Amino acid sequence: MSAPKACVIGHPIAHTLSPVLHGGWLKDLGLAGAYEALDVAPADLAAAVERLRVEGYRGANITIPHKVAVRAHLDAEEESASAIGAVNTLVVERGRITGSNTDAFGFVAHLEAEFPRWREMLGATPVLVLGAGGAARGVVYGLAKAGVRRFFVANRSPDRAAQLAADLASFATIEAMAWEDRGRAAEDAGLIVNATSLGQKGEPDLALSLSGVKSALVCDLVYNPLETPLLGAARASGLPALDGLGMLIHQGGPGFRAWFGAEPPMGRHVRARLLAALARR
Ligand code: NDP
Repeated sequence: MSAPKACVIGHPIAHTLSPVLHGGWLKDLGLAGAYEALDVAPADLAAAVERLRVEGYRGANITIPHKVAVRAHLDAEEESASAIGAVNTLVVERGRITGSNTDAFGFVAHLEAEFPRWREMLGATPVLVLGAGGAARGVVYGLAKAGVRRFFVANRSPDRAAQLAADLASFATIEAMAWEDRGRAAEDAGLIVNATSLGQKGEPDLALSLSGVKSALVCDLVYNPLETPLLGAARASGLPALDGLGMLIHQGGPGFRAWFGAEPPMGRHVRARLLAALARR
């Protein structure tokens, strides 16, 4: 039997860290296997998915701009994909392709790894999620499945926050609120998550005062830079902080396990390898 292979499909593809992540894990474990990056334009997506089946790929990661469009080409979808409305991982089994979204799993797995007592820290307080794109949906879905019952979602475009709240209403109580009210909502929250692109290299900073926040865990999904102004402000206020790189690492776990049949190492060297790749950009 030939060595297992998987790939990441996106357009453009040069930005993705997935080959560094999965290729590094294959090397760490001394496994025979391959993980390739495929640049696929939107018009060629259906053919690329079919190629996975025909050419014996075990599966793929799906990245920008195909995370929603790929749903039309699958045989089945896990709940994570339909709830979040986007797919980032494909598994091919006996010619059938199943899509899932591992962002939710990645966020919660990183939170559990760094703050095993996060549930006690949160208590009955709500979670404030800033943003209403795919990443925000993943965070709400993942935390709701992990038992969180109440969310505030603040987004610049209020209709997207309202849509998120409606789409995920069966999983938790979600209150969509005006972007301008995010500071007030932060004061009551036990967990604050930046799921916007604000704070990312080349983007404006997220304006959020933490001065009225009593005791919240502050998370940023942005990982470039690793220490965002939000995380810096949290640490300066004595609040615990969680960066976005761990989510990126942990979201790769389910795909790697399914494709290569092994447990990927999650040690600090994996972070170091990704940070080195980011620094080369
Ligand atoms: P989307 O493009 O789907 O959503 C972007 C979000 O940012 C929207 O809520 C958007 O608001 C908001 N936003 C953008 N610009 C502004 C602005 N100037 N002011 C206020 N809000 C703004 O992206 P994703 O949901 O996929 O990703 C969001 C972030 O999360 C990105 O930085 C991405 O890199 C990161 N991410 C990290 C992951 C990880 O593993 N750590 C995984 C996935 C994403 P509006 O709706 O009004 O446009």
